[in-house]
Amino acid sequence: MMRLLPNCSNKTMKIAKTIAELKSCLEDFGRDKTIGFVPTMGYLHDGHLALINEAQSQNDVTVVSIFVNPTQFAPGEDLDAYPRDFDRDSQLAEAAGTDLLFFPDPAEIYPTGASTFVEVEGDITKKLCGQSRPTHFKGVTTVINLLFNLIQPTRAYFGQKDAQQVAVIKKMIRDLHMSVEIIVCPIVREADGLALSSRNVFLNLAARDQALVLSQSLASAKALYGSGERSVKIIKAAIINQITTMPLAAIDYVDILDFETLADIETITSPALAAVAVRFGNTRLIDNIILIKR
Ligand code: AMP
Repeated sequence: MMRLLPNCSNKTMKIAKTIAELKSCLEDFGRDKTIGFVPTMGYLHDGHLALINEAQSQNDVTVVSIFVNPTQFAPGEDLDAYPRDFDRDSQLAEAAGTDLLFFPDPAEIYPTGASTFVEVEGDITKKLCGQSRPTHFKGVTTVINLLFNLIQPTRAYFGQKDAQQVAVIKKMIRDLHMSVEIIVCPIVREADGLALSSRNVFLNLAARDQALVLSQSLASAKALYGSGERSVKIIKAAIINQITTMPLAAIDYVDILDFETLADIETITSPALAAVAVRFGNTRLIDNIILIKR
């Protein structure tokens, strides 16, 4: 089924639910066009819309996918609870200038019997989120590969919010000699500093308040770095101390790693990534900041 929504941005967005519809829409656009692709799990917010805007400004055609990818969730994680609102998402995507919205069912992406995965091995997928979510990145790289194969984008847009995802995808692109260009967009935050996330909707008032400690502790880390501190141990301890002042916050990880390779470092001598994951009840939030000489 292909649907046309009312025109809110001087063009009409197409919606493809099947691979056949997706291919037919792409053919209609013409294979000579540059395609900017924004993969998402939906429940769109301004972070997603910033990626769509960037894609739209750099390409002839903007394709957005909404797919809550089951293979990147482990049993017991929030796959079923993940927030979904397709009607709202499709309106937002269209208003942001999306040309084609791909909204497949899991069975379309993973037909019965599918057993092929793409996995980036090594420390890069084992650290940070890889520790508490050991199968997560295998699901991410598999679905991104699959979507790249189907859409064949010129450029693909990812948020720095998911810094490890960016590092893993860039490595996959290099390792597999893929030709898509990866564009990384800055983290979009609420006015008070909380990084936008589809999962923020799960925070109650108290947790929402205390969740500010993620961005605040990272800002303190940046200030410490700015004042000349280069010891990872000292900066990490400062972040941990600040987060543990919040009674509802349970630290999943706090780490400072080489920005590009995510290798362990003791002293910051080149760009470093300070990254945190913190649970508030069942809701796990992540945030990060780049420590870099200005
Ligand atoms: P998701 O729907 O959470 O899988 O995210 C889809 C894309 O949006 C990913 O590339 C994310 O990194 C990006 N994204 C999510 N939140 C933000 C944010 N607050 N700022 C910038 N990009 C984001």
